[in-house]
Amino acid sequence: MNFKALHLISPILQALEEEGYSQPTPIQVQAIPEVLQGRDLLASAQTGTGKTAAFALPILQLLHQQTTTAPPTIRALILTPTRELASQVAESFAAYGRYTGLKHLAVYGGVPYKVQTEALQAGIDILVATPGRLLDLLDQGFVDLKQVQLLVLDEADRMLDMGFVQDIQRVLQVIPEKRQTLFFTATMAPEVAKLAKKILTAPVNVEV
Ligand code: AMP
Repeated sequence: MNFKALHLISPILQALEEEGYSQPTPIQVQAIPEVLQGRDLLASAQTGTGKTAAFALPILQLLHQQTTTAPPTIRALILTPTRELASQVAESFAAYGRYTGLKHLAVYGGVPYKVQTEALQAGIDILVATPGRLLDLLDQGFVDLKQVQLLVLDEADRMLDMGFVQDIQRVLQVIPEKRQTLFFTATMAPEVAKLAKKILTAPVNVEV
């Protein structure tokens, strides 16, 4: 199995080659074709399985294949529990998306607002965010999530452990109901399953 067999397009294949990825990991094999088809996803996967590329690659492809507006609008939103994970995920989008022309940004707490608000005002396609900072920026009017088509909850179990459930609910209220949702979790405690059931529509289940 190689990445081409997953129907990825050449700007992405080129970036993967430069990253030195010769073949997709099991979660990538299972998830990428389903996400490209527009399906919701419930993935049980630990860090280290290649889960970031499992959502980043199809998101880049889906957005790249659409006609774009200038300036771009936020069409994909990735929620992560920590700033470390947000910045890692953003680095992955930078690496895999280098030939797509798509713009991304990571926003998280503990850093001044200015750099983040300026980048938001210039326009981005993909926003990676921790819930608290995202809501701050939303309340201040710096973020418009009305065009979001793709939502990812990365390490959803950790977000719940950290008490972000209400923040997630608030985000769900301001993004379109008609969207594709990808849910990644390492564990499936009852409250995690409950949130997944609430926000996913006929998801494909992937377990690695
Ligand atoms: P993740 O599970 O997303 O945290 O990824 C774990 C590590 O695997 C990261 O350092 C990725 O760069 C790397 N990685 C992801 N997919 C592949 C692949 N198909 N081939 C080689 N390395 C990969």
